[in-house]
Amino acid sequence: MRYWAYLVAKLTVAGAILLLLRKAVVLLFKSADIYQYVGPTPFSRATPPHNVLGYGFSMLALSLLAAGTVWLILWDSRTRCRTCLRRLRMPVGRGSWSHILLVGRPKTEYICPYGHGTLRVDNLQLDGGETPDWRPHEDIWTELRALEESKK
Ligand SMILES: [Zn+2]
Repeated sequence: MRYWAYLVAKLTVAGAILLLLRKAVVLLFKSADIYQYVGPTPFSRATPPHNVLGYGFSMLALSLLAAGTVWLILWDSRTRCRTCLRRLRMPVGRGSWSHILLVGRPKTEYICPYGHGTLRVDNLQLDGGETPDWRPHEDIWTELRALEESKK
């Protein structure tokens, strides 16, 4: 729940900043707002908007910035721990590119530095994007106690 709330909060903040940037571009090119220009009418001699090209390129750059921002937010949230929201560390390669049938498909495993879980990301994507596999760990102290009791 905390993971999804953090993702929604990041998207909300980014959306607010991008809306402010859009508002700034619209104010900067106020005379170039082509949606308010209806053309010359018999009763009024409205002038065509100025700098429509600059307005269009600014909106194009803003839309590219928005797409990049959303991509960065999603990429960042995919590599965070689902429990404590810290960045996952220690990437370990599993499987083999040359022995897929014997060893398994190549994967990269990331682990939470506090032991909350492991994220397995497939490096080989044959049938489209596969969702990373998050496996939560149990409490490491419980596991250590069980290990100690099994030795006795
Ligand atoms: Zn964690």
